[in-house]
Amino acid sequence: MLVQQVKVSDITDESSAQTYLDQAIMTTFCRVLDTSRLSPAVVMRLLATALGATYREVAAAHQDGQCPCGWCPLPAIDIETLRSSLEDAAAPKRADDLGAMVVAGRA
Ligand SMILES: [Zn+2]
Repeated sequence: MLVQQVKVSDITDESSAQTYLDQAIMTTFCRVLDTSRLSPAVVMRLLATALGATYREVAAAHQDGQCPCGWCPLPAIDIETLRSSLEDAAAPKRADDLGAMVVAGRA
């Protein structure tokens, strides 16, 4: 199956941003896995650690209104949302979940 690559200039909304990040993370994961010879589980844990560190740094930059965008980090809620998103995305998909099905053709 040919997958349409999304370039950073193609990001216009949450869906295209998700597709871009999915591709960037998978590419980075595969590069680290191939280069390091670490196990997939270790590389996954390193990715999760990097995401947590990214949150901490971005949240710190938004304390006390330092950024004009107006986001006010709420670490307890934000971290629970991140944990929930990770669980939802990582859990095996049910066979009857239409959102997880690959389109095999078109009508
Ligand atoms: Zn901001």
